[in-house]
Amino acid sequence: MQYLKVQSLISIAALACLIALMWYAVQTDWIWLVISYVYYKLVVGLLGNQIAQHRYFSHRSFATTGTKEWILYFLSLTTGVNPVFYALAHRHHHRYSDQPRDLHSVHNKWTDVLSPLSRQTSYTGEIEISRVLAAEQRKINHYWPWIFLGYVILAGLIDWRCAVFVVLTGPAWNYLHMILFRVLLVHLKLPGSYRNFNTTDHSWNNRWIQVLDWGEGLHNNHHRWPQRYNQATEPNEFDPAAWIIDQFIKTKHV
Ligand SMILES: [Zn+2]
Ligand SMILES: [Zn+2]
Repeated sequence: MQYLKVQSLISIAALACLIALMWYAVQTDWIWLVISYVYYKLVVGLLGNQIAQHRYFSHRSFATTGTKEWILYFLSLTTGVNPVFYALAHRHHHRYSDQPRDLHSVHNKWTDVLSPLSRQTSYTGEIEISRVLAAEQRKINHYWPWIFLGYVILAGLIDWRCAVFVVLTGPAWNYLHMILFRVLLVHLKLPGSYRNFNTTDHSWNNRWIQVLDWGEGLHNNHHRWPQRYNQATEPNEFDPAAWIIDQFIKTKHV
């Protein structure tokens, strides 16, 4: 499909920019590496991917205002991933977690965990189409790669390194993080892993991933209750992303 080709092009460009950033950091100083990682962690990872793309557009796990929904939509595009494709693939993962139809289960074939980047997976069947975006956003979303390119150009007007090392590199950090943490490690039993719920998949909560990934380490809880934006279910668990949703994004019902 055409949009998968564009998706691959963005991911290749992003990885090339990340390699260039590493080289630049070794040759000059480390400040752009730090700026790039902080931008990824806060804007692309936490807001764009975790809150917008995952908890809002994929699971619709909380309600928000029309304006904030648009902000979430534009934030989701900082990942360089079409939010519709992400949501459909992710809903498919929840439906068939660690079963033969799962797109990226290490329990099927280890190379499947690379599928967010490689687009190669052992499941070659269809992914069910369901509604992801509101009608107005669907119209705009035809141009999502151009909107992402717009971010790159705007950043370039400030400094070329903002474009190449920050905005274009953000998706590369995100891909690597998603593959390692969200796809691979939270579906394996590791030191610090535990389960609160006897789900039919191999999802685990992990104390260390929970700290490193700011809320997405409670994956067993999430597989049990995918429709809840707060992934903490026990009194000793805390979900920082849910705190941000509570404080700043969610519509508060009185
Ligand atoms: Zn999962
Ligand atoms: Zn999910």
